[in-house]
Amino acid sequence: MTNPVDQQELALFRDSVIKALETEVAPQYEAWEKNGIVPRELWNTLGNAGMLCVDVPEDCGGCGAPFQYSVVVGEELARLGFGALSTNVMVHSDIVAPYLSHLGNEEQKRQWLPGMVSGEAVGAIAMTEPGAGSDLQAMRTSAVKDGENYILNGSKTFITNGQHADMVIVAAKTDPQAGAKGISLFLVDTSLPGFSKGRNLDKIGQHSGDTSELFFSDMRIPASAMLGEEGQGFVYLMRELPRERLVIGALGVAAARGSLDMTIQYAQERELFGQKLSLLQNTRFEIARMETDYRINKAFVDQCIREYEEGKLDAPTASMAKYSATEMQCRVADGCLQLFGGYGYTTEYPISRNFIDARVQRIYGGTSEVMKEIIARSVLGRSPQK
Ligand SMILES: Cc1cc2nc3c(=O)[nH]c(=O)nc-3n(C[C@H](O)[C@H](O)[C@H](O)COP(=O)(O)OP(=O)(O)OC[C@H]3O[C@@H](n4cnc5c(N)ncnc54)[C@H](O)[C@@H]3O)c2cc1C
Repeated sequence: MTNPVDQQELALFRDSVIKALETEVAPQYEAWEKNGIVPRELWNTLGNAGMLCVDVPEDCGGCGAPFQYSVVVGEELARLGFGALSTNVMVHSDIVAPYLSHLGNEEQKRQWLPGMVSGEAVGAIAMTEPGAGSDLQAMRTSAVKDGENYILNGSKTFITNGQHADMVIVAAKTDPQAGAKGISLFLVDTSLPGFSKGRNLDKIGQHSGDTSELFFSDMRIPASAMLGEEGQGFVYLMRELPRERLVIGALGVAAARGSLDMTIQYAQERELFGQKLSLLQNTRFEIARMETDYRINKAFVDQCIREYEEGKLDAPTASMAKYSATEMQCRVADGCLQLFGGYGYTTEYPISRNFIDARVQRIYGGTSEVMKEIIARSVLGRSPQK
């Protein structure tokens, strides 16, 4: 049983995160969205403000805070409408850093974690390939042993933080005949020869979050860069994915709160037919419906956060959190945009960004359909085709 988190201290931390985001992010966010990427220095700024990898243990350069503190950073980014940045930070702090904390040896942790906490090193994780998304076992990137090295060849796509990444956790086949048992993970230093970045993909939303193609061409990486044991990569991915899915769910809940807050305020200000928008029965019912949807999901995701902290969160339950919360986030963003009328469809009103940024939450980290398959398997067993 872990110690319960002091909620007053957590609230103080939340306030400090909000203040930092208001000064360091809000004034420039619009410009970053137009540029299609955040400046590299932002990572150092976030690190200096104590907002990166906050639950990394102290002996690895972090402050060893409970997981809930890391969730708070993502929640505030999402609630305040910085959807792209919430994705970037989540990948760095809540996906890449935990792989290192959980699977890395002392040398690997020392090499990367302090830099990830300070923002000196940006982390990314590369599983997806052009021919292997939901079907990860179809990946073709290979790592062939050559003395004290592995030679990496292949390509990845849709990699968050790909443009700024200093280190990428790459999933590659070390034994192409062995299916899932032939996949291994590597901590790839992007300054080594043989690594190249492709395009920063032009997406419909989350513009300032860079999403890239990555290429490995006869890239020689030391055998010491293998994360965990050879052939265990798929097992590790399955073990770490529940945290990623839970955090995506938490971001979805927080983003829905942001959408609701701005819509409630708008409905109380906008006048039509000689009365406030908030007095029309449809508006009242829509807000009631969405607030209820939000609260049910918040309660469930908060329960999953506690279960994760206690080491009790299983993969199907984490999938339920992601599936339910991100579908709710999209329902709420759509319903809220509708209440803004034509203004909601213009980029001048932030609800339009919440609407478009929400959409990818049902896709990355495992699509809603894949989540349903995982949940169904836990209830009904495997389907015969699988
Ligand atoms: C903005 C963004 C950021 C991303 N960041 C990363 C990252 O940092 N690292 C990384 O490795 N990847 C990343 N991804 C990739 C993401 O995880 C994949 O796009 C996702 O897993 C889906 O894979 P796919 O795009 O190949 O779609 P496909 O797998 O081709 O899916 C096509 C359709 O088939 C459905 N489908 C799949 N399996 C089943 C099934 N069993 N039953 C029924 N239907 C099914 C899907 O739900 C979907 O509707 C990112 C993607 C985006 C868009």
